[in-house]
Amino acid sequence: MKRDLEMNFEDFPLNVPSEKRITNKLDVLLQDLVECGSALTANLAIKHWNKYMTQINTDAAVIYVRYSCDTRNPVYKRAQARVDEISPIISNYSNKFAKILVKARYRKDLEKKYGKYYFQMMDASLKAFDEKIIPELIQENKLVSEYDSLLGGAEIKFRGEVLNLSQLGKYLQDVDRETRKEAAQAMDKWMSEHEEKLGQIYDDLVHLRDKMAKKLGYKNFVELGYLRLGRTDYNAKDVKKYREQIAETVVPVAQKLYKKQMKDLGIKDPQYYDYNLKFKTGNPKPIGGVDKLVNVAHEMYSDLGSESKEFFEFMMKHNLMDLDARKGKAPGGYCTSLTAYNAPFIFSNFNGTDGDVNVLCHEGGHALQAYLSFPIKIPEYQNPTLEACEIHSMSMEFFAWPYMEKFFGKDANKYRYLHLADAIEFLPYGITVDEFQHWVYEHPNATHQERCAYWRSLEEKYTPHKKYDDTPTLGHGAYWLRQSHIFANPFYYIDYTLAQVCAFQFFIEMRKNHEKAWKKYIKLCKFGGQAPFVSLLEHNHLRNPFVDGNVAKVIHPLEKVLKEFDTSKF
Ligand SMILES: [Zn+2]
Repeated sequence: MKRDLEMNFEDFPLNVPSEKRITNKLDVLLQDLVECGSALTANLAIKHWNKYMTQINTDAAVIYVRYSCDTRNPVYKRAQARVDEISPIISNYSNKFAKILVKARYRKDLEKKYGKYYFQMMDASLKAFDEKIIPELIQENKLVSEYDSLLGGAEIKFRGEVLNLSQLGKYLQDVDRETRKEAAQAMDKWMSEHEEKLGQIYDDLVHLRDKMAKKLGYKNFVELGYLRLGRTDYNAKDVKKYREQIAETVVPVAQKLYKKQMKDLGIKDPQYYDYNLKFKTGNPKPIGGVDKLVNVAHEMYSDLGSESKEFFEFMMKHNLMDLDARKGKAPGGYCTSLTAYNAPFIFSNFNGTDGDVNVLCHEGGHALQAYLSFPIKIPEYQNPTLEACEIHSMSMEFFAWPYMEKFFGKDANKYRYLHLADAIEFLPYGITVDEFQHWVYEHPNATHQERCAYWRSLEEKYTPHKKYDDTPTLGHGAYWLRQSHIFANPFYYIDYTLAQVCAFQFFIEMRKNHEKAWKKYIKLCKFGGQAPFVSLLEHNHLRNPFVDGNVAKVIHPLEKVLKEFDTSKF
């Protein structure tokens, strides 16, 4: 079924929310549900509720996109501020709505129509929230913003220039070793000057989260953290066993890759900053700018299959991508859904690096899934939980492999090796971040020094190649202060590793039978979020990373692939 949309992105109206209008409407919709006596009438009330919610969520998403494309525009700025003010009020209404439904006499009948998972999601979100923790939630947001602005506003003196952390990143991976070392020392100095403040912000966050957990009746924040992420079919014990699998099977493979890298680079006593440089000749470079790369992506999505062809042409036709870096644009990249128009949107800041190609594949994978899931009637089922979402994007990065000559020309193999090696090397770091957070929330009264010592002990276990002789602050275990997820999104980081292990499965399958693997992938995208993570994997015939032995089954074939590359030539 070919979809059509009469408007392009620039014609989507900017509907600035008004608190009075929205709360009046939501009060009426809520009252309608209260008065329902049967599943039949409730079904209608839910439909009306969903329709209105989809509209206000889409309005908010349109505002966000316009604002991030032009942050200096006062109209967008004001509109975004309105959305930020009103969104907690809307969340509170959603909460009231869920409370009525989960306690309804007709719940069993509705479950038959909507599925058990629909109610499990509501139960989880109700268990994670109560009006009595609102003051702590507000305080939590404030502390996270404080962290963001401290890190975002970093001013680091380096060779006569004043740089922020991302600008310094370029020098941290410079081909000249002395430059890398100096950049690492400049960063270490900045860290030592801000360590106390950053450590204090985190300490406040930990105590705040612990307090919320206890107010809601939990032993500590761990269980609450899992509920906040909507994890309904696995727990901290499963994740612990999964980390043990990564430690056993992936850590040794990653260590071999690091050794080989240093051998190729000819470095005898490597320090942590040396690993930022992958090849003597620098990273692979794409063949052109936005227009050229979008054309290649068009070719790729058209060649992969009819669904992806239709998707990408829809994105191009309706101007649903804003990719070039411009003054006034927000940093970074993302994909979002404008659900009322059945339209995904991709935002990025291309800068001429291999990251640009990654956006077209990774964010493209997210957008393709959104596009293929819009036909799912129950909105809650359109979006999977976060670890499942990353499977679509990370797998698309691998489905793009056959097209790398078109994106990178002679650098194609360099990119492929870099992509696969990075993906494997990421897993030990990912479990470090995760294990650290479990320990922190199980020991909320630990001091900053104890946290750093624990982090360093994990590094020695999972990334023993890292040496910090020239950088004493990182050397005593302060590296984690730079990992924003630890501050802003507790327990989320492991999701990237879980999805990576699933994306590897698509990679192995596509090398055996590309067409079959692609069909399976499209089916997964169309499945949306109709089941929680573990049962979503079962439905779609993917190996569950929590089952002992499955990580090894996925990793071993990759070692063979890595051996196909002659890295000494890169
Ligand atoms: Zn992603």
